[in-house]
Formats: sequence, structure tokens, C-alpha cells
Amino acid sequence: MEVVDAVSVHFNGKAEVEDFDISAVVQPEPLPPIAAAENGDKRNGREIVLGKNVHTTCLEVTEPEANDEFTGDKEAYMASVLARYRKNLMERTKYHLGYPYNLDFDYGALGQLQHFSINNLGDPFIESNYGVHSRQFEVGVLDWFARLWEIEKNEYWGYITNCGTEGNLHGILVGREVFPDGVLYASRESHYSVFKAARMYRMDCEKVDCLISGEIDCADFKAKLLANKDKPAIINVNIGTTVKGAVDDLDLVIQTLEESGFSQDRFYIHCDGALFGLMMPFVKRAPKVTFKKPIGSVSVSGHKFVGCPMPCGVQITRMEHIDVLSSNVEYLASRDATIMGSRNGHAPIFLWSFMVIRAGCGNWALISYGISGSFKTTISSC
Ligand SMILES: *Cc1c(COP(=O)(O)O)cnc(C)c1O
Repeated sequence: MEVVDAVSVHFNGKAEVEDFDISAVVQPEPLPPIAAAENGDKRNGREIVLGKNVHTTCLEVTEPEANDEFTGDKEAYMASVLARYRKNLMERTKYHLGYPYNLDFDYGALGQLQHFSINNLGDPFIESNYGVHSRQFEVGVLDWFARLWEIEKNEYWGYITNCGTEGNLHGILVGREVFPDGVLYASRESHYSVFKAARMYRMDCEKVDCLISGEIDCADFKAKLLANKDKPAIINVNIGTTVKGAVDDLDLVIQTLEESGFSQDRFYIHCDGALFGLMMPFVKRAPKVTFKKPIGSVSVSGHKFVGCPMPCGVQITRMEHIDVLSSNVEYLASRDATIMGSRNGHAPIFLWSFMVIRAGCGNWALISYGISGSFKTTISSC
């Protein structure tokens, strides 16, 4: 039945509907009709309803009556909603499948910081006049990544982003600012955020074919480069594609650029390491991502491999590029070189604590891509 299908988009299975019966706390509103096939995108028997937002499962916020004095009731209501929600989260986390997230984290010690509105707005390296920040943690994490990707402290610039997408948006923007008339090249299996960047920045974009493995096909890349020989090239190189986990051959990409007549001052490479950027350096014989090669930026997602309760990511680029991009904002007493304005100040502390506990050991070995879809990491030599 179509109606049940639409509910399962949100609840993903009947067991959970029973566990967290939202109708016990809110009155359901009738479901909108499901869009006809030409508007709807049907995958795995699930239909995505376009053009109509589903509000059926929302926890409605109602305005109090004028003489409402039931504060106690409200608190009890809230406690019961949250308790059910927590149970639902525990259940769903247990059967979490298909997203490459590390759920094996315990950040209990950081609970005490929940009460603070920590915001790292502006540039991580310039203290703004907003005092409740965590820049000391942020820069500590950034320095660690700079070491990992072999760039000197005074030669890099970076920040902790809100997600892998923000890293891609930033990396491609830096490329576009360095080469305003550059053409963006990305393999067809690149993350959708890469093509979103092309649309946002109105860049010419060439989708390059992939090999069967999902890696970029450098023969096709070369043909497309030669067809746009008069314009600089901005390339998104994947360090792990979302679906197949394919790692583009960075060395071959650079070699193809050179063979096609693109010298280093006519290309910019952004490495989308959202998925494997943190893992590759520890995998034997994996292609090496390093700023010793002519790359412009690298980004990773913090909530995937590291495992972090809120989405976040890391973006590192070369300092020389950032001056092209940034402008000063007087009332922040800072520089504006990030995509977002306000930035989550909790995320850097989570990343930092992960680094402190695990990274000092030097060598992380990937043991398994566990049944729950989360990466299990262990430290093989401490
Ligand atoms: C997950 C992912 C992204 C985007 O990361 P978000 O943190 O979800 O925004 C980008 N590229 C690849 C290859 C990814 O797997």
C-alpha cells in the first residue's frame, strides 16, 4: 500500500514504528498523495515524493493558551518524547547499515561542554572578538592533518568544516578563485557536492568517464583536457568514491595533465578525501596524498572515519591561495575565508580528543568494515 510505503521512508521498517509510536504524542495529518512516476524517483521500491513535503511525522510545536499554567505537564511531555526518541536512536544505531560511519566512539568526557555555545566563527588562525571559541583545539587538529599530508605549518591554511560537502565547496572555490576561467573536471562517480559546486559557481564542468572500478579514466580525461586546452584545469580527484570506494590515481592524473600540456601554473587539484582521506596514509601501497605533489587542497569528513556525533570535516589548502579568496570583516575582527559564517565549536574538540587518544599511537590499522557499516579501527602498534 502506497501510504505505508511513504511512512517507511521515515521509519524504515515496522519494528521501529512500534518502538517509537509517534502517533501516541502527535496527531497524524493525512499523507499527501504520492507523485506520479515522472516526478517521482523510484529506487529500491521506495518512492521519493517531489513537490510536497511530508509533515506527518513531525513533532508539532503548539502555542500555549493565554492562561496556560501547565509547565509541569510540558516537562513531563518533553521527558517522555525524549525518552522514546533515545530508545529509537539506540535501536536504529544498532541496525545502522550502509553508511561508512564509525559509531565506535565514546566521548563521555565531553558531555560537560554541552552547556556552552562554542562558535569558531571566522578564521581559525585569527582570534575574533567572540570569546567562547575552541580555536586552540581546532588549530591543534589542523596541524595534525597538515603533518599527515606533509605541508609546513606556515604554508597551509585550513579549517574545520560542517561536513565533507563544505570541504568540496571550499576546495573548488579556491580553484575557481585561482583560475576564474578554469574548467572543472570530475569523474562521473564523484560525489554530488562536486557538481553542486559547479552549478553554484557557474563553472564549466566536464564529467569524465570512469573505469569499471569507479576510478577516473585518464584516457577520457586526456581527450577532454585537449578539447579545452586554452583554459586552465580544476580537477576533483577522489580519494574514495561514495558508492564503490574507488581511489583515483593521483599520480596518473598529474601525469595526464603534464602530457596534455598543462604546466603546474595552469591546473588546480582538489582531493575529495571525504571517505578515505584519513585512511589512505595508513594503507600499504595506497596512492599517497601529499602536498609534496602539486595539489591545491584536500578535504575529509570528520563523522565518517573518525566517528563524531555531529557532522564535520577538515579542509586544508595552501596559504598562498587563501589570500586570493579572503576578505576582512571589520565587526568580527577576523578574515572571511570560510564558506560558513558561524562554525561549530564543539566539533573540533571531538576531533581533537579522538586524535589525542588514537593518533599518538602512530599506526592505525583498518581491521574491518563492520557489519554495522561502521569502520572498526584498532591501533596495531602503540
Ligand atoms: C560523504 C562524502 C562526501 C560529502 O560528505 P558530507 O560530510 O556528507 O557532506 C563527499 N565526497 C565523498 C566521496 C563522500 O563519500
